[in-house]
Amino acid sequence: MSVLSELYDQIALCQQCGIAETRTKVVPGEGREDADIMFIGEAPGWHEDQQGRPFVGPAGKYLDELLASINLNRGQVYIANVIKCRPEGNRDPLPTEILNCRHWLDLQIELIKPKMIATLGRYSMALFFPGKSISKIHGTAQKRDGITYFAMYHPAAALHQQSLRQAIQADMLKIPSLLAETEDIAETEPQPQQLTMFKD
Ligand code: URA
Repeated sequence: MSVLSELYDQIALCQQCGIAETRTKVVPGEGREDADIMFIGEAPGWHEDQQGRPFVGPAGKYLDELLASINLNRGQVYIANVIKCRPEGNRDPLPTEILNCRHWLDLQIELIKPKMIATLGRYSMALFFPGKSISKIHGTAQKRDGITYFAMYHPAAALHQQSLRQAIQADMLKIPSLLAETEDIAETEPQPQQLTMFKD
């Protein structure tokens, strides 16, 4: 049994939030244990909750297409979410849920050791680019402690808005060269602590 699947077993036992009671399946994440790139979304939706797998609904189908545009498939990357249980009615994750779940994500990052993390949407961006606005920083990268963080719109948002669709497609196309150059990217200076999660 791999360390990552042991971690999945622990996540499945987690009862830290109320949504643990309403979930059908916990959705820890999936993909290569030694992936160079990790995509982090927001929270499982209905389809993910049913299957226990991330990004398997319409947004996931679109993510698969975006990956294919850079000759990648989900077996070559790692896909996770900020929180591992579905918030009822697909509401936004609560700050306490994000906080309670953070250590699972940190452990996943520690085990996978990706060169690059692509954040999908505002909630994921807010963990790694606190206080920033997604409309301003999408398509840009920051390197900290050896990991290149890259902010992207959420595929579900891009599915429904033509302008975001163009942006996410263009941003995805930047990933191969960033991945190839991660060693050469300069580390970003530490940011002052921001109080707001995100600006829009
Ligand atoms: N949206 C997300 O943020 N994550 C999923 O797994 C599915 C939809």
